[in-house]
Amino acid sequence: MTFAVIALGANLGDATSALQGAVDALVATAGVTVVSASPVFETDPVGGPDQPVYVNAVVLLETELEPLALLRRLNEIEEQWQRTREVRWGPRTLDLDIIDIDGFTSDTEQLTVPHPRAHLRGFVLVPWLAVDADAILGGSAVAEVVRTVDVTGVRKLNPELRLAIPS
Ligand code: ATP
Ligand code: CA
Ligand code: CA
Repeated sequence: MTFAVIALGANLGDATSALQGAVDALVATAGVTVVSASPVFETDPVGGPDQPVYVNAVVLLETELEPLALLRRLNEIEEQWQRTREVRWGPRTLDLDIIDIDGFTSDTEQLTVPHPRAHLRGFVLVPWLAVDADAILGGSAVAEVVRTVDVTGVRKLNPELRLAIPS
């Protein structure tokens, strides 16, 4: 079993339901155990065109899947939400990124792990810390990395909404 960190984001349609649907789909995936799911954050878009605010969360998994098989499964779940790719960093119904896989690195276009932009993104680091205060990214404590990024656009929902992990 390998430990993996997945970032979820959406800003089109019923974005919060898409995030919960993605957790449900991961729970239903053979060889994947969802260990924890963060609260949902509302976040201002970073990069890309003018677009609606996002909802973001992070889930922690244990998995028997190889990294590329995990990526394929994430793409399949995105497709179930009619994810399209028209503009880079454009609006999307669902985005599932592999942020980190314990003991694994990859530097190809198809799969770069740790995620090459995660350390710059409050919308990834803040939810991640909310589920793992001791998280490590590329050898650095996420609690330290987050101090180097602008997190003013990352807001917890009120009332707090935590993604459910169906049993
Ligand atoms: P960003 O990567 O900056 O978050 P994005 O999520 O909008 O941007 P996508 O269009 O969803 O980018 O993905 C583009 C490609 O990135 C995918 O085809 C996928 O193969 C590749 N990719 C590389 N590394 C990863 C990773 N760690 N997690 C998910 N996809 C990755
Ligand atoms: Ca992404
Ligand atoms: Ca992506």
